[in-house]
This record gives sequence, structure tokens and C-alpha cells, in this order.
Amino acid sequence: MIINNPWRRSLAQLKKNAKKINLNKPLLTKLQNFDRIIETNLSLKMGNGKLGKFKGYRIQHNNILGPYKGGLRYHPQVSMDEVKALSFWMTMKNAVIDIPFGGGKGGIVVDPKILSERELEELTRELVRKLFKNIGPRVDVPAPDVNTNPKIMGWFEDEYSKIAKKYTPAVVTGKPLEMGGSEGRNEATGLGGVYALLSILKKIKKSPKNMTVAIQGFGNVGRNIAKFLQKNGFKIVALSDSKGSIFVPNGIPDIDQVELCKEEKGFIAECYCIGSVCDLRHKKQMGGKDLKSLEILELPVDVLIPAALENVITKENALKIKAKIIVEMANGPTTIEADKILEKKNILVIPDILSNSGGVAVSYFEWYQNLHHEKWDKKDVFKKLKQKMEKSAGEVFDTREKYNVTLRDAAYIVALERIKKNYKHS
Ligand code: NAD
Repeated sequence: MIINNPWRRSLAQLKKNAKKINLNKPLLTKLQNFDRIIETNLSLKMGNGKLGKFKGYRIQHNNILGPYKGGLRYHPQVSMDEVKALSFWMTMKNAVIDIPFGGGKGGIVVDPKILSERELEELTRELVRKLFKNIGPRVDVPAPDVNTNPKIMGWFEDEYSKIAKKYTPAVVTGKPLEMGGSEGRNEATGLGGVYALLSILKKIKKSPKNMTVAIQGFGNVGRNIAKFLQKNGFKIVALSDSKGSIFVPNGIPDIDQVELCKEEKGFIAECYCIGSVCDLRHKKQMGGKDLKSLEILELPVDVLIPAALENVITKENALKIKAKIIVEMANGPTTIEADKILEKKNILVIPDILSNSGGVAVSYFEWYQNLHHEKWDKKDVFKKLKQKMEKSAGEVFDTREKYNVTLRDAAYIVALERIKKNYKHS
């Protein structure tokens, strides 16, 4: 469906909210376009001696608030329109969380799971060589995204430093700790989501105690938000990954054990853990129940958290959603049609550009520490993250009251107002 082309959806979100604040025409036009679109061919000598050819992208949406900033995604379905939308969302996210960055995003059309480690490293280094002239600590600072990780960011930093003939850790974030990465980056997105949710609950005067939660996705974001929510008194009842799910209506006792189990088995569906013993045979004893793949989204819980993929809440299932609050941890999990249905049903949606911005906030801390030769400890990073998330969530909530709009529209309004204030039209 055309409206769920991610870039068209971004444009619709932009236009709708630009109108609400009478955004001036030159700025609106600028935000509907890009500063630079880089599309490049990457060649790679494969292990079998053949030459592999891959398409690489880097899209720099705009740098009104600071250097372009956003992740690199390695996935067979990476496309120009997807990268365009993601770079636009980075502009909005960085503005909502109030860090001095513009928006950018990039990727390679590749399934990294079919590459050897040497091929993956060489492909990453080739991408750096192609992007070198257009990136840098004060120009454009990439980061990890789907299927990219600290190791890949380490290769990225190393190749850039080699070409620049200068150690340049601030060219990329999400690096391993020993290569200038920040403490707390790993947990940042999930923990940031918890801080955002707790701030909004405080505003609406609801206690998190025993609120039930279902989470789709148990990767970096899903497992961290699950762990921190449990520590804050929420009752996690369902978790899923791409291969299956676990559902315990009385609450999954220990997320740390589930994480260990998933690491060991590679999938979550058998992770019914009693103490440190995880076994599918415990399911009955724990009151566990089967779920079909998308049923996790329709459970009668207080809080639903999509933390896996785009476009999972659609007009087909939005009517069946029973949660009263949705915390969007994935980027773009809700289609435009579904959003309207959720609004009519009075479901409170904490939008992606606010709730998952903890990751880029700590990326900013990493970049800052690199530039200032500082090393912050984890406690300090989490304290600063909490302040950022609480301040932004508060601003978004107050804007919602002021304009009588959804939290999503309020987040766009906060972002656009901030960009407008800094935009000098020449
Ligand atoms: P990840 O690759 O670590 O984990 C993704 C998880 O989703 C895996 O557990 C996978 O099994 C699961 N999954 C895939 N298909 C599924 C399906 N059909 N049903 C249920 N689960 C399924 O990725 P991540 O870093 O956790 O990112 C998840 C989402 O959060 C993405 O949309 C990403 O863009 C967004 N995000 C991530 C960060 C970050 O810092 N990692 C920051 C902002 C936004």
C-alpha cells in the first residue's frame, strides 16, 4: 500500500505537523528534501574468488542542528525509500531528544549472514573508502543499526583513521569499549524506553506496579527493555523473537534467565525457566500458553511493546489490540491507518522518535567523550540518559496538552519547533 511506503509516510507526518505550527515554506521544503544522497557500488572479492557487487547508501537529510547522525543497516531489503525515511526520522529523533545532530542513515543491500567475517570486514572497509570524503566527526557520524554491531563500527573507525592518517574515534559511535565506545550504549535504547514510559505514567498519574507487558522482539532493544521494566515492578507476561514466543499470564519470573537461555538455544520458545533451569517441559507447570506468531500484539495487557520490525501494527490488527499503552521501540512499527484506529480507541502511543531515542542520546555521549578525551562511568551515563529522556518526555507530554494532539504529533511539533529555532534561511 502506497501510504506505507516509509518515505511517503514520513512526508505525510511532516506536512501534517508543519501545518499545525505554521512552519515557514523554505524550511518545509528543505525538510522534504535531502542535503546529499550517496548511492555507491561496492565490489568485494569473495572467499570463492568471485567478485561480489553490492549497493551502498548514505543519505544526509539535514544538518541544521549539527553533523548528520544515524545508523548503518545491512539487510537484503535496504532500499532508497527506506533509507530516506530512516534519515528523516533521525532528524526528528535527534531534535526531540535535543542533541546537536542532524539526520542521516545508510546501509548496504546485503544479507550479512551469508558473508564470512573476512568478507563482512572487507565490505565495511570498502564502504568507508567510498564515503570517506563525506563523513567525519563534524560532518556525518554513523552508528550501528539492524545487523551491524560494535565490531563492525570498530572496523569502520579503523579504516577511517587509516585513510585520515589520524586516530579518529569520533567518526562513528557504537564502538567496542576498548576502541572508544561508551559505557551503557548497549543498554541505552531499552533503558531510555523505560525512562520515557515512567515519565509519561507519572504525568497521567498511573503506577507501574504490576502493570502487565508483552514485548515483540528479544534482540538488543527487546531484552534490555524487558529487564529494566521487570526491575521497575512491571510484570512481563509475553516475549517473542522471529522463531516463536513464551507466554506466562502470571508473569515470566526472571528475564535474565530467559536471556541466558536464548543465548544458549538461539531461540526463545523453549525458555520457560524455573530457577536456572529452562525447559519447554516447565510450560504447563508455569501456566504457560501457546501464541501464534502475531497474537502477542493482541494480548490483554496494559503495555504493548513492538521492538522488532516496521509496519507490524496495521489496520488489520489495530482493532484487536487490547493494550492501553503502546511503547514503540522499533522504528516505524505502526502504519498510518493503524495509528488512526489506535487514536479512536484512545490507546496512548508513545512514539518511536521519543521512546527509542535513548540509543542515539548515548551515541551523542560517546561522540562527546571521544572529542573531549573523557571516559564516563556507567552510572554517570545512565544518570545523564535519565535526565534527557525525562526532559523530552515531559516536553512532548506538555505539547500534547497544549495542542490537543496525540503524543506522536506532539513529538513532531517539539522536533520541528527546535529545528525552526535554529534554522537560518539564506
Ligand atoms: P536486533 O536485531 O538485535 O533484534 C531484533 C529482534 O526482533 C530479534 O530478537 C528478532 O528475532 C526479532 N524479530 C524479528 N522478526 C520478528 C517477528 N516476526 N516476530 C517477533 N520478533 C521478531 O535489533 P534491535 O537492535 O533490537 O532493534 C529492534 C528495533 O529497534 C529495530 O526496529 C531498530 O531499528 C530499532 N531501534 C534499535 C536501536 C538500537 O539501539 N539497537 C535504536 C533505535 C531503534
